[in-house]
Amino acid sequence: ADRIVVKVGTSTLIHHNSKINSSVIKQLAKVLSTLKKDGKDVVLVSSGAIGVGMGVLGLDQRPVKISKQQAVAAVGQAELMQIYNEAFHEYDMSVAQMLITKDIIDYPESHTNVMNSFQELLSMDNTIPIVNENDTVTVSELDHHTKFGDNDQLSAIVTNLVDADLLIMLSDIDGFYSANPNKVPDAKLIGTIGEIAPEIVAAAGGHGTKFGTGGMTTKLKAAQRILKHNQQMVLTNGKDPEIIFNILAGEPVGTLFS
Ligand code: ADP
Repeated sequence: ADRIVVKVGTSTLIHHNSKINSSVIKQLAKVLSTLKKDGKDVVLVSSGAIGVGMGVLGLDQRPVKISKQQAVAAVGQAELMQIYNEAFHEYDMSVAQMLITKDIIDYPESHTNVMNSFQELLSMDNTIPIVNENDTVTVSELDHHTKFGDNDQLSAIVTNLVDADLLIMLSDIDGFYSANPNKVPDAKLIGTIGEIAPEIVAAAGGHGTKFGTGGMTTKLKAAQRILKHNQQMVLTNGKDPEIIFNILAGEPVGTLFS
């Protein structure tokens, strides 16, 4: 794969005590900088703005009110980019903040503008674009749980848009299981999924962590989009970002959607 999109979830970036997992961010910066220096095109889609904002503001619970969540995300986004900036500077890389929304694909002008920005950024030698959903402008009144901050589907949209070879989705779980392993201890990891059949959808139970949003449901929607475009996605655990090297070496890691 010469062009990859890596999506990192809140559950990977934030510890359960609301503290940011800085070692994972440092590792991620190291791995992605190495790939970029090897001539690969790399885009990072990062969640975590609300979780980081909660830490900055000293909140133990995600606010219920949507406008409060937006405010917390705005605080957290600035802090998160500062952390990434420092981490990537260690490897002489700069980061580019791209705040976009899923509906760019419905507006030809926005679509073209975002695509042009990506092309320019990807042609730069020492820059990594870091994408997040623009939480200030995207709020679904209908379905807060799956739509607010849904970077899973956004990362698939980005993967389509830049015509990447692979989307690597880093979460707090080793892959997609036959049932939620937190509820069903003997659930089995599924190595390859070629089609999002009803049994697969049924296996994606419930929401994830207190910070994470979509759980597996939004990841399956992302996978569906990837499969439709004949692209590939790997879902795996982000606790050790060096796993990205194993994936790119063709080793069987996590769940491959192909
Ligand atoms: P992230 O923050 O990385 O986006 P989430 O916390 O939203 O991740 O989603 C990951 C969680 O989804 C897992 O920790 C697990 O509890 C839950 N989950 C539900 N169904 C499944 C399944 N079939 N396979 C794996 N994980 C599942």
